[in-house]
Amino acid sequence: MGNRVYKYGKNTLAVRAGVAHSNFGEHAPGLFLTSSFVYKNAADAAAHFAGKVDGGYIYSRFTNPTVRMFEQRLAALEGAERCVATASGMSAILAVCLAFVQAGDHVLCSRSVFGTTTVLFDKYISKMGVAVDFVDLTSLDAWQQAIKPNTRLAFIESPSNPLGHIVDTAKLAAICKARNVLLVVDNCLTTPALQQPLALGADIVMHSATKYIDGQGRAIGGAVLGSRVLMEEVYGVVRTCGPSMSPFNAWVFLNGLETLHLRMQAHSHNAMHVAKWLQAQPQVKRVHYIGLPTHPQHALAKAQQSGFGGIVSFEVYGGQAAAWQVIDHTELLSITANLGDSKSTITHPATTTHSRLSPEVRLACGIEDALLRVSVGLENWQDICHDLATGLALLPSQ
Ligand SMILES: *Cc1c(COP(=O)(O)O)cnc(C)c1O
Repeated sequence: MGNRVYKYGKNTLAVRAGVAHSNFGEHAPGLFLTSSFVYKNAADAAAHFAGKVDGGYIYSRFTNPTVRMFEQRLAALEGAERCVATASGMSAILAVCLAFVQAGDHVLCSRSVFGTTTVLFDKYISKMGVAVDFVDLTSLDAWQQAIKPNTRLAFIESPSNPLGHIVDTAKLAAICKARNVLLVVDNCLTTPALQQPLALGADIVMHSATKYIDGQGRAIGGAVLGSRVLMEEVYGVVRTCGPSMSPFNAWVFLNGLETLHLRMQAHSHNAMHVAKWLQAQPQVKRVHYIGLPTHPQHALAKAQQSGFGGIVSFEVYGGQAAAWQVIDHTELLSITANLGDSKSTITHPATTTHSRLSPEVRLACGIEDALLRVSVGLENWQDICHDLATGLALLPSQ
């Protein structure tokens, strides 16, 4: 992008930031499928290994040109000093924990997070001799009270999956800062196209690139972003422990980022129409979509997000059997647990994404048996509603 001192807009950064050209003069970003890199001579190799060659490449577990392009582009979009790419969203969270938490520490995790994130903290991070407590995302008082002298890190997802709960991130960041706790935000559901948590005061942002960053359900990947100082620690973990992003996946995500803003606007537009339509159906008990003016946190969402995203959840009358009826009568929607795809997907969280949680924990998170989640894709929204209508027509109205 040259050296002009000028701050480019988000759309420009999405298609231009981070690209490094090889000598071949390619226009699209190059895909460097190579595990190692060669040197001019023994001294050059030694200089690379000593870290004396700025931007030098050594081995693709921790340095690869395609992965670096992806990292630089996502960093530009999140307004972060540095990004470290990882093999998956889960390994992004694991890398953050390995970098900043040790035995004897205490960490806090929001109750409303991706099901596997709960398992990661509850079953594996706790194994490291780290105490874990789960907190109600929306209550600033609860966070304030949950922080202990040895609390090192607070992990949230805002908006959360699948219910779209949010927290006032700037206020929570201030609470964490005052008590020396790192605030980590999973920005998977909004992406930097709709919200930049670092600008709201978070210390670290992480992503499952698998979702909207890819946008077409093709590859698994993750990312951690923040200051140079913090990311040096995360980089050390990825370099040493090896949950690295494959260059091929980085190339897919790099191209995905080019259309991220357009897609997030389209997902949000479609989701709003689907949510409004669902709200008008007598068989639907409750719709969870932060874009609806009736949502208790709508005003806060409007203040800290520039759009509401593509995830709409709703409860039907008639429990799990009714929810399954809706799924089993779809023809267009894909029955799969992935989200953030251009194709709409439908999921029953209680028996899939959140099935590893105990029924008590599940209910505490608000995952009712009658809850369905739709990741609203880029089809015509009328077709999505029409597909849901077939199953809904068979259900009771209360
Ligand atoms: C999918 C997801 C993850 C985990 O990411 P993977 O790439 O599947 O490892 C984490 N957080 C959220 C919100 C997700 O939706």
